Amino acid sequence: MTDWKLPWQAQCLCGQVSMTISEPPMASFACHCRDCQKLTGGAYSLTLMLPAHGLQSEGETEIGGLHRDGLRHHFCTYCKNWLYTDGFAEGLVNFRPTLLNDASWVIPFAETFTCERLPAAQTGAEMSFERFPDESEFPAVVEGFTTSGIHPR
Ligand SMILES: [Zn+2]
Ligand SMILES: [Zn+2]
Repeated sequence: MTDWKLPWQAQCLCGQVSMTISEPPMASFACHCRDCQKLTGGAYSLTLMLPAHGLQSEGETEIGGLHRDGLRHHFCTYCKNWLYTDGFAEGLVNFRPTLLNDASWVIPFAETFTCERLPAAQTGAEMSFERFPDESEFPAVVEGFTTSGIHPR
């Protein structure tokens, strides 16, 4: 049994939004897509996919990004930090693990949208997908992550 050392605490840059993670992640990702590059201002985004009931958020948030139906990016209203994304699948949330008080253990197990990867962005992820894994590929990602040994030290 993996000791996930839950719950985890996380905060946005200014600290006005606090988040508690109370369920183990199902997978970790680096996404190289152009949208993630622009949203983060970095080369790629880091994600922990969680069951939605495993993320509690306190403090004022607002929707940002492209305001698409089916992809809601939640931001801190003050510092405008990108916090988490939901709406893409029932019962799931993609949390930005860089906000964890201890993010030192976070490694992307899989990387997505390598078709838009910037030349210097090397993540070391074990699985790579040119775009997003489709539904049939998804169980292998979750299974691989759970046996990967990626967890808090
Ligand atoms: Zn903030
Ligand atoms: Zn992306």
